[in-house]
Amino acid sequence: MIEHMPQTVLVVEDEEDIAFPLVRTLQRDGYEVASVDSGEGALEELAARPADITILDLGLPDMDGLDVCRKAREAGYKGAIMIVTGRAGELDRVVGLDYGADDYLVKPFGVAELQARVRALLRRTGGAVASTEPVDPTGLRIDVDARRVYSGEQEVPLTGKEFEVLAILASHRDKVVSRGRLMADVWDENWYGSTKTLDVTIGRLRQKLEGVGVREKVVAVRGVGFRLETAPSS
Ligand code: CA
Repeated sequence: MIEHMPQTVLVVEDEEDIAFPLVRTLQRDGYEVASVDSGEGALEELAARPADITILDLGLPDMDGLDVCRKAREAGYKGAIMIVTGRAGELDRVVGLDYGADDYLVKPFGVAELQARVRALLRRTGGAVASTEPVDPTGLRIDVDARRVYSGEQEVPLTGKEFEVLAILASHRDKVVSRGRLMADVWDENWYGSTKTLDVTIGRLRQKLEGVGVREKVVAVRGVGFRLETAPSS
């Protein structure tokens, strides 16, 4: 069992009638919730206490929510951002331009939909990604049944293929698993195409593992395959 810190949510919304029930619902769901009613307030709050997820209204009194989104990313905010807008017509334009948001919701929305989206977003982004502190090297823990991977307390967000590759390598820890075996098990046993896909997946997997500072490394064994090595702890 892993003890999770409560996940944190920042609600950026100037309309009290919307903000208040939103905050209360999220608190009831067990999140630690902060709320601000302006863009400047949001940027200050995110700099001081980066929330795991920010629910950001586009129509704020002092600045455009999209500018808040862009500025937060420029300032190094790494949590998830869900944009909420009443301007349904603008959504296509907003999604097309990359402001660094992770999800979008059009008002009016149901509470259940918001709850589901928040959960999905936290699953996808791994929740506690907001920390910019250097991470201590920790061991990898793989929950095969739940298909989730943790580095210490932190979940590592992996795609399905990344998870499968890692699970196979981990079940043969410190031994080489051949490219052919990985391709057959993770993709398709009748796959005769290029193994570039495998290299791309391994590359992303490495990046994600390094990003959370795990001790284990995916090492390429030239001409043979890959091996998950446990680096000695310092
Ligand atoms: Ca508003």
